[in-house]
Amino acid sequence: MSLVVVGSMAFDAIETPFGKSDKIIGGAGTYIAWCASNFTQPIKQISVVGGDFPQEELDALTARGVNLEGVQIKKDEKTFFWSGRYHLDMNSRDTLDTQLNVLENFQPVVPESYQDCEFLMLGNLVPAVQRSVIEQLKNRPKLIVMDTMNFWMEVALDDLLKTLAMVDVLMVNDSEARQLSGEHSLVKAAAKIMAMGPKYLVIKKGEHGALLFHEKQIFFAPALPLEDVFDPTGAGDTFAGGFIGHLARTKDISFDNMKTAIIVGSAMASYCVEKFGTQRLREISDVDIESRLNEFVQLVNFDISVG
Ligand code: AMP
Repeated sequence: MSLVVVGSMAFDAIETPFGKSDKIIGGAGTYIAWCASNFTQPIKQISVVGGDFPQEELDALTARGVNLEGVQIKKDEKTFFWSGRYHLDMNSRDTLDTQLNVLENFQPVVPESYQDCEFLMLGNLVPAVQRSVIEQLKNRPKLIVMDTMNFWMEVALDDLLKTLAMVDVLMVNDSEARQLSGEHSLVKAAAKIMAMGPKYLVIKKGEHGALLFHEKQIFFAPALPLEDVFDPTGAGDTFAGGFIGHLARTKDISFDNMKTAIIVGSAMASYCVEKFGTQRLREISDVDIESRLNEFVQLVNFDISVG
């Protein structure tokens, strides 16, 4: 039984008010794999890269327990490239460039060895590609989680809606939830989005935490107040990696355990933003994760007697 992760593997170029990166390794699938491998292994990865993607990056993922049998390498093509610039608040950003390259005609092939998939994390990627992976699995996974972004709402809405109807959990940020639903109130937006298919909805609000919706229930997890945020890129994907990683490790998909999973995702995301790219995620140990989870417990722990 295993966790299958689908998502972009990319080169990113990032500008923040505090610095600028060269072309560095990024991609939703990359962040998810680095993060989730702290909780469960192997991670069975599905993605595509060009001949320009460094072999040592692939080797580093393999060493981390990430199975790359489902990652296609198109020798004569270029890896997906994304570039973004953050505003002063570090919460909002503009996409400066998106070059799909190998993603343009990507047709994922699910290897036979991935058919034991119990947990499926559909990281941000072409919605039709996400759906193709669901359709290739002979048995429906126990839980399918989908992440997406405004870009796909603009260029592939029909496909996105079809994929959405097949998943259990959707993760989006607050502006994407508003765009998808046409509602400003996040509570109304959540009700509309859950009517499109997913039984659970996670709305990420950057430094203002995350909300989990299921039927009439709502749970809120704060983000850890940090002294310095260096680069928010990948925070959402890292959050997703922590969320699904925790669920896959515990094999418990109850609403209560999803609350814990949201805290784990938030703790992991708080590490991700401390350095550019995936750098911080590569450094942290189980002890670091444990200590940050404790900080979360302290952050929200209080006694109150009502009535
Ligand atoms: P996040 O900051 O969590 O929203 O994710 C940022 C990552 O998403 C970057 O590493 C990008 O390479 C990747 N990304 C950006 N745009 C897209 C897209 N249209 N499709 C797939 N991945 C993308």
